[in-house]
Amino acid sequence: MAHTRIAPPAAKDEGQWAFGSREPQNANERFKQEDDGLNVRHRIEHVYSQQGFASIAPDDLRGRMRWWGLYTQRRPGIDGGRTATMEPHELDDEYFMLRVRCDGGSLSTDQLRTIAEVSVEHARGTADITDRQNLQLHWVRIEDVPEIWRRLEAVGLTTQEACGDTPRVILGSPVAGVAADEIIDGTPAVAAVSARFVGNPDFSNLPRKFKTAISGSPHQDVAHEINDVSFIGVLHPELGPGFDLWVGGGLSTNPRLAVRLGAFVTLEQVPDVWAGVAGIFRDYGYRRLRSRARLKFLVADWGPELFREVLEGEYLGFTLPDGPEPPPPPFARRDHVGVHPQKDGRFYVGAAPLVGRTPGAVLAALADLAEACGSRRVRLTAEQKIVVLDVPADQVDALVDGLEALGLAVRSASTFRRGTMACTGIEFCKLAIVETKARGAQLVAELESRLPTFDHPLTINLNGCPNSCARIQVADVGLKGALAGGEDGYQVHLGGGLGLTGGIGRTLRGLRVPADDLPDYVERVARRFDAQRHEGELFAQ
Ligand code: SF4
Repeated sequence: MAHTRIAPPAAKDEGQWAFGSREPQNANERFKQEDDGLNVRHRIEHVYSQQGFASIAPDDLRGRMRWWGLYTQRRPGIDGGRTATMEPHELDDEYFMLRVRCDGGSLSTDQLRTIAEVSVEHARGTADITDRQNLQLHWVRIEDVPEIWRRLEAVGLTTQEACGDTPRVILGSPVAGVAADEIIDGTPAVAAVSARFVGNPDFSNLPRKFKTAISGSPHQDVAHEINDVSFIGVLHPELGPGFDLWVGGGLSTNPRLAVRLGAFVTLEQVPDVWAGVAGIFRDYGYRRLRSRARLKFLVADWGPELFREVLEGEYLGFTLPDGPEPPPPPFARRDHVGVHPQKDGRFYVGAAPLVGRTPGAVLAALADLAEACGSRRVRLTAEQKIVVLDVPADQVDALVDGLEALGLAVRSASTFRRGTMACTGIEFCKLAIVETKARGAQLVAELESRLPTFDHPLTINLNGCPNSCARIQVADVGLKGALAGGEDGYQVHLGGGLGLTGGIGRTLRGLRVPADDLPDYVERVARRFDAQRHEGELFAQ
């Protein structure tokens, strides 16, 4: 579409395509311009998988392979103190992390079983649920990738654009279409956005990653405050159920919460509005510096009024009606753990793995268990949890018993297990400074033993570095990997939250908690909160 430009250019050349700035200003923009990341698939299938790791061109290895969900993982044995001083290629192992995108967190039991088989046969049994409803496998060899794709795609799964400067996995309410209290079922919108735009060359070279969230649940269970574009269920007094539009959220080293545009979007309009927002990002987004290339920087500079004006005037060609602000979610917890009634009389059951760890053998057993209890649908949550849908009333107890036996806690899920998330960390991530998963699991065990009756909602998020994959700035207790006296430690952020307690946490500057002291520190924080809180008060209030 030929545009009449409404928005002014940035104060200096930020590499915005909309103003003719097409000369790449950094290495990422250069390799993206030279060849679309999506094209690397052909080389993986026909060259790299046959000739081995050493044959992979550097721009593909550390760049375009992400467009198909592949990152090199960290070479074992390199401590976090050396991370910052080494060149990226020195940290590369000859194995990959492979991210399987699960749009809407949605998986059939057949899909779950296939991922489990791939995990066991090609990924040393590894599988982690991420806080973006993906499943990540590790130890993947380039030689095995075509066969893995063949098996995943045979059951309707893909790794396409699971990473890279692309439309990443679309978060969706894990209980979409089944929850008794749902405002609107966002499932058709998740499916339409995915079908029309994932793998679409119009959107395969964005300034950086582009994160989407769609939820029609009153619990707003997709962390919409920290996505680039979000559609949150709301009831319009005249137009009925639809979505409230938010843009420009994101964490990392410059955290910003998304802002409302005040616009009401119908279910049918979601894909076009999504394309408008993503189009603005593609055309106006900053491409000069990677550190300023997220949509949040453009939204901060423009403000919501101008952003909406450009969206409607340049991209949609029509005006969106004003809409009401969604009421705050009814509860602090949005993880769906426990047994809940569905609108059709059956039940959904949410279970908590430990810090998202779900080995392939557990996923296979989960698929069998769900089917034995009458379900063929599973969903992943944005809190690294699992929900089994469509369980008949007379199968609920058997399912819960089976989940507990698999280490997927339902009735035994403590507040610490429910509330603790951890990113990948130094075990596999090249950017990590410290360990996260094992330490998060130890922390949960210690806190459960020291504070067995503590049951207030409390989120504890562990990151291996400042990048905030595990959302430290919006946790009650955010723990950011940092060296403390040359040893593993954590910088502390307190009082962040989403939903009822929306806000960026406070950084306790100068405090680095050594890793070994973490249980003592968090125990003190939890005890103080317990002693000082008023009835019903949340940590971040
Ligand atoms: Fe890696 Fe850092 Fe992200 Fe953790 S937060 S997964 S260490 S980049």
